[in-house]
Amino acid sequence: MSIAAQLERLKAELPPRVKLVAVSKYCPESAIQEAYDAGQRIFGESRAQEIVPKYEHLPKDIAWHFIGHLQVNKVRYIAPFIDTIHSVDSLKLLQEINVCAAKNNRSIKVLLEVHIAQEEQKSGFYPDEIGYFLKNTDFIGFKNVEIIGLMGMATYTADEALIRREFATLAAIAGDKSLKPLVRELSMGMSNDYKLAIEAGSTMVRIGSKIFNDTDV
Ligand SMILES: *Cc1c(COP(=O)(O)O)cnc(C)c1O
Repeated sequence: MSIAAQLERLKAELPPRVKLVAVSKYCPESAIQEAYDAGQRIFGESRAQEIVPKYEHLPKDIAWHFIGHLQVNKVRYIAPFIDTIHSVDSLKLLQEINVCAAKNNRSIKVLLEVHIAQEEQKSGFYPDEIGYFLKNTDFIGFKNVEIIGLMGMATYTADEALIRREFATLAAIAGDKSLKPLVRELSMGMSNDYKLAIEAGSTMVRIGSKIFNDTDV
């Protein structure tokens, strides 16, 4: 199925509150252009060295989202143009984003990544740290970052009950009375689990393979 047909099929499934981040990592620019021509404007990438040339060559009204693990020393390369960073997993990274955004006279939207999966290698804050970080005034005092919500990745597994529990954990943190006003977006759900994420309250799904290399007919 073509990229345009794949996007159309996917968008028909998403409730209006859910934004689609088309994850174009490892895709050639021609594939991104094809999705753009079909109306897609939000694209997600996970490597600084890949996103910079794509930003330079592709239409300027694309909202580029950074979704992968971001090294502190790479922030300056993406700070001039990045719209949203989903994967803020340390205070040090948030500080660097604030500094680099200020140098570019702009504000960058960020989501705090919450560690919800059982797999050790998935990064992020632990659920009980999030309240502290969201409410900490130093954190909120950063003038050039806007914390818009939380992001999480479930364990990569066929065990749907486990995935549901992990998404529910994140949704419960986001729905906590004292945090709710601070959490506008909940970024969860990928090609293999976006339906479960939407049921759990996701507002942003990050979908790559289902758009760009789906082999179903
Ligand atoms: C690659 C990636 C995705 C998209 O994964 P698909 O399975 O291709 O949909 C989503 N989120 C993050 C953080 C990723 O690195």
